Amino acid sequence: MLFHIRIGQMREHMQLAQVYQRLEEARLRVTPQRQTVLRLLSRRLAEELSAEDLHRLASEDGDPVGLATVYRTLDVLFGVGVLTQIMNEDGVSRYRLNVETLQPQQHLICVRCGDLVAITLSWLNGLGERVHAATGFTVLDHELKLYGVCMACQGSGRRGVG
Ligand SMILES: [Zn+2]
Repeated sequence: MLFHIRIGQMREHMQLAQVYQRLEEARLRVTPQRQTVLRLLSRRLAEELSAEDLHRLASEDGDPVGLATVYRTLDVLFGVGVLTQIMNEDGVSRYRLNVETLQPQQHLICVRCGDLVAITLSWLNGLGERVHAATGFTVLDHELKLYGVCMACQGSGRRGVG
């Protein structure tokens, strides 16, 4: 159980690390307010959230961000392409983390020592589009875990394996 929690946290961290990298490329600082908004969006990948929603969720999370700051933050993040904006008939802009522009990551998990390594297999790029074309299913994110034995454990367990 603990193992799964660890992977969950790791995954969120990895995904946001890529968003932060993009902010850095755009010469934007990763302010606490931006971190809070991004964290909330990364935990609700399938939801479309308005500035009001994020303002409320941030308060519930104990990291209050003023509504005007949330609006500014969303503008900035949308401007650099890390968010998708959805305009509904009610005229309220809602946002989602733009996972399609992020490189999905794959994880190698050692079943002996529990070591977890994130890698990016470039030949999996475009997987979401291909699945959508074949089935109509809209992929928001994907996760691939490959279980096995790491190099270090292969070395130390060689005698036991034979
Ligand atoms: Zn290992």
